[in-house]
Amino acid sequence: MVPWLILAPSFVAGFAGLTAYGAVYSRSQLFGHTVCKTNLPKQLAITFDDGPNPAITPKLLDLLDRYHVKATFFVVGKYVRQAPDLVREVCARGHLLGNHTDTHPNLFFCGPEETRSELLRCSEAIGQATWAEPRWFRPPFGFRSPWVGALAQQQRMRTAMWTLIPGDWRPKSREWLIERIKPIAARAQAVAKLQPLGERSGGDVLCLHDGDFARPNADRTRTLSALEYWLPRWRDLGLEFVTMRETNGKAVEA
Ligand SMILES: [Zn+2]
Repeated sequence: MVPWLILAPSFVAGFAGLTAYGAVYSRSQLFGHTVCKTNLPKQLAITFDDGPNPAITPKLLDLLDRYHVKATFFVVGKYVRQAPDLVREVCARGHLLGNHTDTHPNLFFCGPEETRSELLRCSEAIGQATWAEPRWFRPPFGFRSPWVGALAQQQRMRTAMWTLIPGDWRPKSREWLIERIKPIAARAQAVAKLQPLGERSGGDVLCLHDGDFARPNADRTRTLSALEYWLPRWRDLGLEFVTMRETNGKAVEA
């Protein structure tokens, strides 16, 4: 057998692995630039995906107000059209709105035209509700394709990923979720003690969910409850709450 035929299966496996890595690994830059951390270790960007959700988002807005937190909401176009008043409210309270596509497909399996349309329809829905178009985009499930970065850029949006995604959609306990979010406080304590952070130079971007892309009015009480636990603690640790807008500068080179 010729050597390249022996090598072929491992090459194919390697290519598939690389593609999967580029598609979903939050800090991969293979499919275009993404922002996945804040500029400074003491800055925390809290982000919410899959809303707006009339069952939870209003309670969440009240909780965020209580601790003077500004966050970023990556909303789904179909839900924006169902609750434009709520989207206006999110904006009016000083939070940042981002594009999370119109119907929440896995973009890894969408062609360029479908991807372009998904992004555009969501931005139009946000634009109609708030008179402002989003400048940030987060791909559903974190899955990207070779063209999604360029298409987002064409629509003048930057792609936002995360440093921590605790899996708040899983049917686990409040305590489980609180524990999963613990690394943020651990890093903040390390920063306060001037301990080295390794290769990490920026702060965390936390990815939570105030909605469920598959079901409207989903119960996200656990997410709310975990934040009730952590927000005062993060404040006491000296963390500064920022939106993706404040990560604009050097954070692009992940
Ligand atoms: Zn999502």
